[in-house]
Order: sequence, then structure tokens, then C-alpha cells
Amino acid sequence: MAIFREGKTCLPIDPKFQKKRKKVGKEKGIAIWGPVDPPEKLGIHGTYVAIDLDICTGCGICLEVCPQQLYEWMETSGHPNSEKKAFPARESDCVQCYKCETQCPAQAIRIVFWPTGRFGQLVSLVAYLFFLQTIGGIIYGVLFGPSLDLQTLFYVGWVILPVALLFFFSIAIYFKKEGKPGEGKSLMNTTVLVDSGTYAIVRHPQVLGTILLMSASILISQHWLAAIVGVPLIVWAYLEAANEEKGLIIKFGDDYKRYMQKVPRINFVLGVIRLLQRRKREVKVDRSKVKSCHSYQNLS
Ligand code: SF4
Ligand code: SF4
Repeated sequence: MAIFREGKTCLPIDPKFQKKRKKVGKEKGIAIWGPVDPPEKLGIHGTYVAIDLDICTGCGICLEVCPQQLYEWMETSGHPNSEKKAFPARESDCVQCYKCETQCPAQAIRIVFWPTGRFGQLVSLVAYLFFLQTIGGIIYGVLFGPSLDLQTLFYVGWVILPVALLFFFSIAIYFKKEGKPGEGKSLMNTTVLVDSGTYAIVRHPQVLGTILLMSASILISQHWLAAIVGVPLIVWAYLEAANEEKGLIIKFGDDYKRYMQKVPRINFVLGVIRLLQRRKREVKVDRSKVKSCHSYQNLS
């Protein structure tokens, strides 16, 4: 959305800058995306934490709100809208809490969720392998039956599959409904802690869905290739979920710590038991409220 400043219309940072612009150099190891013509035109600095310096007004809010303190001031004498700008000096420290992006009054910041560069290629490869392992294993099982002929495990795999799909896709329902990602933002850019639906059972329904899908593929196909590809990916998915929580604690603070105490990471059985216990406690509290209300009415 465009904003108005000093009688002029200012557009926010271009979300597709990596496709539309070219890298023209680096400053202290941070990429610069052109066009650049100093001191009037400075371009976009940063890849994961990107700031359009031609939009930045140097208000300093991002420096104040960033929990990782990854921004520094940068002298920009001669630039038409401010003499200093925010510079994402340690962008690799970003935990994607989105505080800077949502609070920047000039809309000059873009946090890039999907990683780029070598790490981005690795993540894309993992996603591709996950897709191949899941679809390949299921198709193999349907066409040729279970390789080891263990019929019980074969049917267990088919039972797991719909549960896995439910958890895997629930992110699209609950993040959209409860997470308030903001207009035009990715679903991952939640601004509110989501703790209902499948998120009331486990903290990482999508990771649980991923692990169950790969397990179902192994059980249905019973093929060594599905196991060799699937087991390391299952370990990777679990470790990534644990790693992501560091950022979520910073993003949501004590609310996330309380959520961690209530809801397990991916232990589905424990999650259901705890949910039922919470519901039972809530019903008890509601009944005691109704009772005290009745006794008050009888007295009066
Ligand atoms: S919050 Fe936005 S306008 Fe303010 S210094 Fe940071 S990037 Fe610039
Ligand atoms: S998203 Fe959070 S951690 Fe990343 S730069 Fe912005 S404020 Fe800092």
C-alpha cells in the first residue's frame, strides 16, 4: 500500500526485488540491489533482511525493536530524505519475528522468509526429496503392494495417511484464520500466536504432518529407498522444528513459553491427553461458576 509523505506518494519496498533488480555489489558483506547512483539513489541493501534505502527515513524504529540488534546506522549524507539510514549489518542473525517489517512507518523493510543462496538451494532440495519420497512410496505401494509383504504395517500406513494430511494442511486454515498475517503477506508472517485447532494438540502440526507422511510412505511401500531417503528427512524436520522455536520465543515472548509448557512439540498422543485434561479443568471451572451464581440467586 502506498503512503503519503511531504505531499509525495511513497511506494513500499518491492517484494519481488530479487527478481526485478540486479545485485550490483556488497557493503560489509551485505548485498546491494541496484540501480544505485550515490548519494541520491542507494538501492536495496540486504537479501534476507532487505531495506530500500531510498524509502527509509532514518526514524530508527527498526534499531529499537530488533531483538537481535542486527541493524546499525549508516551515514548517507546527500540523500534527499535523510542523512542516515538503517543498515542490516548482521542479517544472518534474523529470527524472522517480523517486528521491524510490521513497525517500519515507511514500509522500507522486507523480511524474506524462504531462504536464498546455498542454504535456499539445500532447503529446496529437501522439499523436493520429501515430495518424491512421499508420492513415490505411496504410488509404489499402490502399484506393486508392500515390498516386504507385511500386510498389517501396510494398512497402518493407510490409516496414518489421512491424519498426516490433516496436520500437514492445517497450517493453511489456522494461520489464515487466527494468525492475522496481514494484507498481502505470506501465511508464515503471523502476528498472533496460534494455539487453537491442531495447534492445541502439537506446536508444529505441519512438521508432524511431514513426519507422518514420510512414515506412511515407508509403511505402504516397505521399500528400502523410501526408508533411506525418509529417515534422515524425518530427523531433519524434527531438528528444524526445535531450531525454529528459538525465533518463536523471541517473537512471542512469555506467551510462547507458556504455550510450550501446555502443548508438546510433536508428540500427538501426549498432546491429545493434555488437551482433554485442559478441557476437563475448564468444564469444572465453568460448573463451579454456575453453582456459585445459583447460590447467590437463592440467597437474594
Ligand atoms: S524503521 Fe524503516 S524508516 Fe525507520 S530506520 Fe528502519 S528502515 Fe528506516
Ligand atoms: S525480523 Fe525480527 S529479528 Fe529479523 S531483523 Fe526484523 S526485528 Fe530483527
